[in-house]
Amino acid sequence: MTTTRFAPSPTGYIHVGNLRTALMNWLIARKAGGTFILRIDDTDPERSKEEYVDAIQQDLEWLGLTWDRIERQSRRLDRYAAAADRLREMGRFYEAFETPTELDLKRKKQLNMGRPPVYDRAALALSAAERDALRAERGQGVWRFKLDHERIEWPDGILGPISIDAASVSDPVLIKADGQVLYTLASVVDDTEMGVTDVVRGSDHVTNTATQIQIIRALGGTPPAFAHHSLLTGPQGEALSKRLGTLALRDLRARGVQPMALLSLMARLGSSDPVEIRSDLSELIDGFDLSHFGSAPTKFDVEDLFPLTAHYLQTRPLAEVAGKLAEIGVPQDLAEPFWLMARDNITTLEDLKRWWALCRDGAEPMIDEADRAFVAEALALLPEGPFDAGTWASWTAAVREATGRKGKALFMPLRKALTGQESGPEMAALMPLLQRVPGRV
Ligand code: GLU
Repeated sequence: MTTTRFAPSPTGYIHVGNLRTALMNWLIARKAGGTFILRIDDTDPERSKEEYVDAIQQDLEWLGLTWDRIERQSRRLDRYAAAADRLREMGRFYEAFETPTELDLKRKKQLNMGRPPVYDRAALALSAAERDALRAERGQGVWRFKLDHERIEWPDGILGPISIDAASVSDPVLIKADGQVLYTLASVVDDTEMGVTDVVRGSDHVTNTATQIQIIRALGGTPPAFAHHSLLTGPQGEALSKRLGTLALRDLRARGVQPMALLSLMARLGSSDPVEIRSDLSELIDGFDLSHFGSAPTKFDVEDLFPLTAHYLQTRPLAEVAGKLAEIGVPQDLAEPFWLMARDNITTLEDLKRWWALCRDGAEPMIDEADRAFVAEALALLPEGPFDAGTWASWTAAVREATGRKGKALFMPLRKALTGQESGPEMAALMPLLQRVPGRV
């Protein structure tokens, strides 16, 4: 059965970059009728925070990306220790004692000689007595996985066939000197034991994947199908990594972005399929195809989310926004006409507040000097309220009759006088909602 996972580290809020990973894995699982696991990669006790564990779940819930199971790596440390023991028994695990400064020096020397900075496996040559001496002097070492120096190949679901020479990669450290299990090991143990069949993640993980494939095989497992999506860049192609912190899902939510706008964009961005606003997740599942995604960096512009949000809101039935209308004080009997009037003139639901304030309190009129007399004459012709759907047509007909003005010269000054702005909703739809007309009360 298809099983995928989203495996965030709870060291911060999830942002658009993480969302891309989460969404692709979620869509694959849902499309196949499989299982989607939310896996919290919290083996780093220093950086992992409960606050973020909660926040990740809230953000996914906001989007409707439901999970079938939640797992926490911090509760599976015994599994990782068992896997480490097996690697040790197989002779695929060795302890190394170099300090970060020493490693850095080695790297610099290699680079100076024009060689790739790959760990030289000096620790492999240590005798048992030398290891004991180093351990006595420096404490526990780190544990490295001994790669087989062969080509590691896999058919990547997005990048196509990949082939990496293991000799060009350092033997990965899987356990730190303080005993902390690192992601590379924890992740393969989980992927294998949880039956994960498909892994989509960012292309910054390609080298990890190569080493993980060898570790999985060493432990007797079958590697999942891997796919690596391109990384997001800003609209001009600039690196987004530093700005991702400002693109947290909760910030977008606070700015009024609708979940379906975000999902509709992220489920198609970087693919050959057009970005179209969808009403619900099932529509996104139907058209999703991983093979339509390309390897080129994907441009992301946060501003694209606002027209999509506006578009989404325009098609919402009253029932879906009734709560919001009540919250901002629109009386129930006006809810429907108000929504129909306002929905094409908002970007986010917050904008409704502005339109309701206009209906309730009237606007600060905008009257050009040249129109002052005209507007005064027109307002004198405005019938007593309450207005109805025909008021605008009959009133403007009467004003035209009295003043001889027509077209834009007739309508624009009246719109500006009544709404304080040059554009906005249909006046015929707005009039019945106006509780107060400026200049007349
Ligand atoms: N915790 C890892 C990360 O956030 C997971 C990567 C993976 O999907 O394997 O980068």
